[in-house]
Amino acid sequence: MLVVNLVEELKEKIKELNGSIGFVPTMGALHEGHLSLIKKARDENDIVIVSIFVNPTQFLEGEDLDKYPRREKADKKICKLANVDILFMPTINSIYNRDELRIEAPAIRGFILEGAKRAGHFDGVLQIVMKLFNIVSFNKPEKFRAYFGKKDAQQLTLITQMVKDYFINVEIIPCDIIRDSDGLALSSRNVYLTKDERLKALSISRSLKRASKLVMQNILDKKSIEKEMREIMRDIEIEYIAIVDREFNSIDKIELKNSILLVAGKVGNTRLIDNIWI
Ligand code: AMP
Repeated sequence: MLVVNLVEELKEKIKELNGSIGFVPTMGALHEGHLSLIKKARDENDIVIVSIFVNPTQFLEGEDLDKYPRREKADKKICKLANVDILFMPTINSIYNRDELRIEAPAIRGFILEGAKRAGHFDGVLQIVMKLFNIVSFNKPEKFRAYFGKKDAQQLTLITQMVKDYFINVEIIPCDIIRDSDGLALSSRNVYLTKDERLKALSISRSLKRASKLVMQNILDKKSIEKEMREIMRDIEIEYIAIVDREFNSIDKIELKNSILLVAGKVGNTRLIDNIWI
């Protein structure tokens, strides 16, 4: 496995490669969720490139940029074991310039739910993903696929929209949410949880499970579903419970095979998100 820190170095390397590229962008502190994306990329492509970059522009003032877990050594080991060809860990100076041209998230989908609670967050996400796509797909006429988790459903939808709106030559591959055996969706931020907080956090996935049972009983309206979910999550600070269609338009009733039910909440100081695709 080759570890590359500079943009120009990666571009030179990519020039020499042949075949399809599977690309997995991450912020590191890798867990089984990330690994599932890497494995899928490995199965479906000739070359696998993983990036690890804690992107400052997607963190808002007062968020956890400084304390975001960084595990360079362990991450390298995980990537090597997963047969990654190139691990791209760019330095900040090789990625960002001064007074940059800005990319803005769309006015509605970019500013509801996660975008409402974290205004500007998606501008930063789209900015870094656009940069990474351009770097990794540089000079590559062959197939270029990028892998994203459904865990960050709004992010996945907005990146898919950016690819469409800006005619970017990449296929976006959505990947299922990986959970711990107790149901908690894996996240690099789970390490912030104390034992007690983790127990409380389990109510998030439990409430989603309950919701999917209700859907199976043909209870599809948001009010009824939300009421039961709130009861299950009574010990955490719920930020939102929402239903959107697969293009992230808000809806009040589940449309089977076209809906996402989303939750965001705070347990102690840790903000968690989870969802199910229905
Ligand atoms: P992050 O390092 O948090 O930016 O995540 C990198 C990629 O991994 C994103 O596409 C995430 O959606 C995805 N990811 C994170 N957690 C999970 C999970 N539990 N299951 C599936 N994908 C995930």
